[in-house]
Amino acid sequence: MAGIEEQPPVDDSAKQREWDEYYMKIACLAALRSKDPRTPVGACIVDSENEQIVGIGYNSMPKDENFTWKGTSSTKKTSSLDPQENAANPELKYAYVVHAAVNAILNKTKESIKGCTLYTTLHPDDDCARAIVTAGIKKVVYCMYKRDKNLEVGMKIADVFFDIKGVKLRKLPEASLKVCEYVKELQNRIDVGGKNKSSEEQSGEEEPSVDRKIEPASWEKFFMSMAKLSQERPGDFKNKAVGACIASPDNQIMAVTYSGEPDGIEDEVKRLAKERHDLTLTKIPEFYTHAEYRAIVGKPSVRGYTLYVTSYPCNVCAKVIVESGIKEVVHYKNGDWNDDRCYSSRKILTTCLGPSNIRKYGNGDSINESQDEASRSIAIEEPGHT
Ligand SMILES: [Zn+2]
Repeated sequence: MAGIEEQPPVDDSAKQREWDEYYMKIACLAALRSKDPRTPVGACIVDSENEQIVGIGYNSMPKDENFTWKGTSSTKKTSSLDPQENAANPELKYAYVVHAAVNAILNKTKESIKGCTLYTTLHPDDDCARAIVTAGIKKVVYCMYKRDKNLEVGMKIADVFFDIKGVKLRKLPEASLKVCEYVKELQNRIDVGGKNKSSEEQSGEEEPSVDRKIEPASWEKFFMSMAKLSQERPGDFKNKAVGACIASPDNQIMAVTYSGEPDGIEDEVKRLAKERHDLTLTKIPEFYTHAEYRAIVGKPSVRGYTLYVTSYPCNVCAKVIVESGIKEVVHYKNGDWNDDRCYSSRKILTTCLGPSNIRKYGNGDSINESQDEASRSIAIEEPGHT
């Protein structure tokens, strides 16, 4: 009997947990783009059928820039319609903020996200629930951080919404998430915001936390961080994967992908090679699909977009990059120029996109590293040190 106990448990739930954590980390990274000084929230939508990310969002003010997080006056208090005019009551921000789940749904990269799973760093409220059920999302996974008490009613309403529409809601335990730098940074940002709040409540003074201006890391750093984080996908390809992220000119994330195939493909390839009596078919890497390839071919159109990728694309990927209309490639690592495939890839990309549109991460003009250092930036290793 002891032998039975020592056997590893049937691993479906453990595997599911790993994927849940992976997607939740993506949601946490998204949250770091939020400028909310108290409760930054991130969300990520996953098409369970092919394990593709089909929407990413974080809580923002309308158009992200127009309104202040201090709350905007209602017309009862002032006749001003100036969006930056602060009211005495910072809670008024809730009337203006667009929630992370709603933004993720609006940022969807395919026509229908029916049946998809939404990962969010916070329990949804009624505002989120309305969008979730309208979009046809069927599963919601949340973790971590508490909402303000005055929004608990909204959370209860969301639960009823989900019951009626058959949306499955589950909580991901936060313990194992703490290993990730983005989770830590998010937790820290929330802690600081929360601390300020309680001291304000004790002293009865004006909300100091909302004066804390959050300057997220540059878009370029954000997109490359997405690509690097997606390298950390669990399963067979753990530590082998390349990550890619495609962004539109208006900074919408169109794809976040990793290289590889579903778990178990190696065994399946070996089995079929044996069955066909041809062991030359066991060259496993030939069966891998690269991250950038998946990102491009999996989307309807990427014309005019920028590709962020953790390794220099190979020649197979270079061909689809240029033919797809991708206009710019930012790579984290250089290629091995002595390798024929890498050499031809470089030739294809520089010839077709122009040398200035294929560049190493951190070398571009658009990235202002010193500005990033000054802000509470997303940590990322310097290029060339992996
Ligand atoms: Zn490739």
